[in-house]
Order: sequence, then C-alpha cells, then structure tokens
Amino acid sequence: MRYIADLHVHSHYSHATSKDLSLESLYQWAQIKGIDIIGTGDFTHPQWFQELQTKLMSDGSGFFRLKEPPQNSALSDLKHQGRDVRFCLTTEISTIYSHGNQLHKNHHLLYAPDLETVSKINTKLAGMGNLNADGRPILRLPARDLLEIVLEVSDRAYLIPAHIWTPWFSTLGSKAGYNSIEACFRDLTAHIFALETGLSSDPVMNWKLSALDCYTMISNSDAHSPQKLGREANLFDTDLTYNAMFEALKTRQGFLGTFEFFPEGGKYHMDGHRKCGICLDPTATQAYKGLCPVCSKPLTVGVLHRVEELADRPQPRQPEGAPNFEYLIPLPEILSEIKSASPNSKVVQQQFWQIIGAFGNEFTFLRKVPLEDIQQHLGQVFAEAIRRLRNQQVCLTPGYDGLYGTIHVFQPGELQQLNGQRSLRATNANPPVAAAYSSKDTYQI
Ligand SMILES: [Zn+2]
Ligand SMILES: [Zn+2]
Repeated sequence: MRYIADLHVHSHYSHATSKDLSLESLYQWAQIKGIDIIGTGDFTHPQWFQELQTKLMSDGSGFFRLKEPPQNSALSDLKHQGRDVRFCLTTEISTIYSHGNQLHKNHHLLYAPDLETVSKINTKLAGMGNLNADGRPILRLPARDLLEIVLEVSDRAYLIPAHIWTPWFSTLGSKAGYNSIEACFRDLTAHIFALETGLSSDPVMNWKLSALDCYTMISNSDAHSPQKLGREANLFDTDLTYNAMFEALKTRQGFLGTFEFFPEGGKYHMDGHRKCGICLDPTATQAYKGLCPVCSKPLTVGVLHRVEELADRPQPRQPEGAPNFEYLIPLPEILSEIKSASPNSKVVQQQFWQIIGAFGNEFTFLRKVPLEDIQQHLGQVFAEAIRRLRNQQVCLTPGYDGLYGTIHVFQPGELQQLNGQRSLRATNANPPVAAAYSSKDTYQI
C-alpha cells in the first residue's frame, strides 16, 4: 500500500521544541497533515521512553499504535479524514568528538523495531552522555562508534545521518562535518544505506555528487512543533511493516520518493551572516575570500556552497533507481500569503481548519484535489496558488545563517491585482541579497 512517513520529529523533551509535542498531538497532527507513519522522536529520553512504553502498543509489524487515541482535546471536534496513524520508534543523537585533530559534530537518526531494542540501545548510550538533559542527547563518541553500538544491539536497528549538509551539526557540513560519508563511518560505511537531505537541500543538489549515488535520499520534517509535521516526508509503496519500509530504503524497491521543502526556504541554503544582514551565493563568498564584508569574520558557509565544494559533476544526474520528488509549501504559509497575515493568525488558522474539514488532510489538498474543485470552494486566487505550487512556479528568497528563506507563489503586487483590491501588505523587509539565486529550471523533474 501507499503511505507517507515522517521519520524525524521531536518530543517536548528536546531543546527548543513546543510543549505541545505529546504522543497525542503527534497522532492528531499526523491525521490532519495526512501522514501514516510518524516517528516518536527522542526514544533515548528516559521519561519519553517511559511514556512510549505506557501509551503505545505494538501492531505486530514493528510499528506502534496509540492505545488510547485522544478523544477530548480541542482538535477532536475538527473534521479530518480518519487515519490509522502508526508510530515508528526513532531518536536523534548529536555526536561531538575529536577525530584527526578536528572537532566533529554530527547528528544521526536511529530506528528500532521494538521497545526491547530501544531499551538495549539506551542502556549502552547512558554511559556516554546525559540522556536526561535533552530529547536529542549529546554524546562524546565518534559517529562510527555510535553506529557500531547500534549494529551490536540489533541487525534491525538502523542509523541514518541527519540533515547531512547543515553547517554546524552534520556529517558533511561546512563547519564540523567530513568531506565524505566514508571518512565519518570508516570501516562501517557499508551499513549506511540512506541519508537525510535536510530542509536546505533537495535530491537534485545531491545528484551532483557521484559518491552519494548509492544512498537513498530521505526527507523528514525535523518538526519542533506539531504544526510543522510533514513539511518534508517520504512516500512508500510496500507492506505496512518496519521491515518492508527499511527494505525499501535499502533497495529503493517500493520507495517512491520524497516531499521536499524548496531548499531555498531552509535556514542554511546560502552563505552569510544573519546579524550583519549579509546573504551571499557561493561565487560572491569566494570573491570575499569567505569573510563577511560587514564584520570581516568568517561567513557561515551554507548548504548550496558546501554541495558545490564536494560535487564532482557540473550538472546533476539522477542515479539509476533513484525516485523522483515533489516540492511542497506548507498550507499555512500559502494561506498566510493569500491572506496577508501571519501563519499563526486567526484568519489563517480558521481557513486552514475549513480546508482540512472540506478536503480531509493537507497532503491530499496540496497534491491531489482537482484545481476546479479548489476554485469552486475557495475561489480563483486560491486555485491559482495551488496550480503554481504544483508547477513549481514560485518566488524564492533564500535562507542563510539560521534564517529561513521565504517562498511565495505570487509576485509582489500581483495578489492585490488578482484580488482587485488595494494592498494592505507591509513592504518586504528581507535583508539585501548580494546575488540572487533563482534558477529553478534545472530542478524540474
Ligand atoms: Zn539535528
Ligand atoms: Zn558579518
């Protein structure tokens, strides 16, 4: 069967996450978004793990059901498509260590098929750092050794490097990463079969490195609040079991590809300095010799630049068997643009719930609902917005140095014209972009 999986999320025990991240809200928001398999996140955290043991029950396939799906929360009155949401046991680990006289900081996703395996992993990791301190714990051990521990515990437990290109905390990042997957995992590299591309890169960017051809590229939301679930996700067509899902990631049989955030929308796509308001493309950074033209300190080299640095192909080439992907913009952001209001505003929230009520869930609405139906229910402007999203006709202002980029479907002023009304929208307050990176044309698939 076809199903959507978001395999990197967090609980409220992780640093800087929403207090609303409970199992119940993950369950409800997975239904609202249209996600079938949702990661538990944070299984290394003792209290969260206790909650997983108490509230989840195995469905016999390596996934888990909530014993008591929420009935009386504020969300339960809202109409959305029923969905048999299952959980997959997941966590994220931050390894910080010296290797070859260099400090490395990498994030990794771990997966387990049952609670006993989680318990064994947690027992082994407890001695290497404070698992209580953070849902995403920091361990002082090399990434290779973390992988070794995972492999020793179970041949059905897996490690997938997380958001591999982000500058500060990833396997290939510009600040604390390596130049290859092999340099990081050394003799155990053969046990790595998939990589998470992260919000600031997409599969096409990764297709410029022949060294990555053998890895399956996955995408997940890394949500720090339930509303952000599914901003990236994976599409499968397999039996709904843990074994079948990971077999698909190993073989690419039954892995249909990913839903992608536009990489320009990620926080580390371009180079720059957030506090100096400087955003540069790789060529401009080189012209400045890597130093900020305002403060003269080293720039934060972003994902686009880092990919170019390690790439060995002038043009991306889709590896054999690698699936396609679709770009998506979260619905609240599209509503925010159309309504000229914040994604958290009442007007946006109200319309969001109306749409979920009318069309079942967010993924279905963004991807599948015929444009005529959208026009009929929501009007011409809305139908045009979704048409443009589906055709990848968007306006991009890239993110850099921790600042999210912005993705719009309408040109400045165009929406007011379409609406035939005077603009109430504030002027664009984005910092200067020294050299705008735009060409989506090469990314068409
Ligand atoms: Zn991370
Ligand atoms: Zn600066």
